[in-house]
Amino acid sequence: MKTEMIAVGTELLLGQIVNTNAQWLSKRLAAIGMPMYHQSVVGDNFDRVYKTFEQAHERSDVIIVTGGLGPTEDDMTREAAAPLFKQKLIEHGPSLEKISSYYELNNQKMTPNNRKQAHVFEQAEVLLNEEGMAPGQIVTVDGRIWVFLPGVPGEMKTLMNEHVLPYFSRTFQLKSEIMSEMMRFIGIGESTLEDELQDLIQTQTNPTIAPLASEGEVGLRITATGDTNEEAKQLIVNMKEEILSRVGSYYYGSDDITIEEKVRDMLKEKQWTVASAESLTGGLFAERMIALPGASSVCQGSLVAYTPFMKEILVEVPKFIIKEFGTISYECAEVMALNTQSLLHADIAVSFTGVAGPDSSEGKEPGTVFIGLQIGERKPVVREFHFNGSREKVRQRAVKKGYELIFHSLKK
Ligand code: ATP
Repeated sequence: MKTEMIAVGTELLLGQIVNTNAQWLSKRLAAIGMPMYHQSVVGDNFDRVYKTFEQAHERSDVIIVTGGLGPTEDDMTREAAAPLFKQKLIEHGPSLEKISSYYELNNQKMTPNNRKQAHVFEQAEVLLNEEGMAPGQIVTVDGRIWVFLPGVPGEMKTLMNEHVLPYFSRTFQLKSEIMSEMMRFIGIGESTLEDELQDLIQTQTNPTIAPLASEGEVGLRITATGDTNEEAKQLIVNMKEEILSRVGSYYYGSDDITIEEKVRDMLKEKQWTVASAESLTGGLFAERMIALPGASSVCQGSLVAYTPFMKEILVEVPKFIIKEFGTISYECAEVMALNTQSLLHADIAVSFTGVAGPDSSEGKEPGTVFIGLQIGERKPVVREFHFNGSREKVRQRAVKKGYELIFHSLKK
């Protein structure tokens, strides 16, 4: 079986970026017994991309293409392959939805050329891109397997590890077993995490480690290849142990678990309950918890107190606090958490008060948020944050931070 890789992008030819995708793909494929026969780089020129594809189609069985799937004129990977495949490009609904909701969430207008990123071949197996816009694709044409992946290395690696390598393993009944685990961390930034694990990341071959930043947290995907399932599993266990010895305090779970589920589980174990007092988050914190099965044993409820008047009435915030410090203040968040704990008979109370934006309020910049936490008999803790982004983002980020603070406090 002959495998080859084509990287599309003029910036690779100009030496502006290094073709790290080729190195990574070569290593990964060699590890599972699919060595590469050819690698090429081609610039963003329709005729040359077409010719390169034509040549690959003649000489190889598996062809992996990275790059050129973006929205602009010079992204032409799909368009150049379409005449060779004699296949139309069609719009992929779930990818288009993802692209448009990204623009909506970030308060940006989606330009028509962005639709292009959701174009796929008629007969493609579409690989949804969780980290970016353009999906990956696997297309079989005249017995050749073509794989199209985004150029961005992180997106390419995730799609390879999660979809393409298991697909090869199934299709070619490769002897080797591929296993992976996504470790999830919260309260540590991507760059700090990478820094702590720099030596492991730089020398990685098997298992590979890929850091992935997502909203308010960081993931580390460990992927191992072994002759047997047990061998691959052991490689993951050993690497995980090493990682946990360095950054274990930020680790909350693996694979599909969310931070909300983790907090629910921790509360359950302690037989504790949580309640919230929510201003700018408008009940979002409670909504996230109540959406989970088993919430009834850990969640007391929420006091949604948006206006100063409701903070007085519902959460019994003393008038003088609002007058003297304002509602967007350390003092207000503190008393909100403290009172909510007793009003809702909860073991833990969390409070959110701040400015979601887009305008300032009480002289505070949009994104300013105070989160209060009252746990058992402990002293209340209040933290001040300055979140970036749209009104929606600020509210979402505040809620996530609330879960993060509870997680770290419960661990103590
Ligand atoms: P997007 O959909 O994000 O535009 P794309 O599939 O169109 O992605 P390109 O626009 O070709 O991909 O590349 C995006 C970025 O990914 C490049 O600017 C570069 O930083 C990186 N990149 C692309 N190809 C490679 C490669 N072969 N090796 C390393 N990095 C690459």
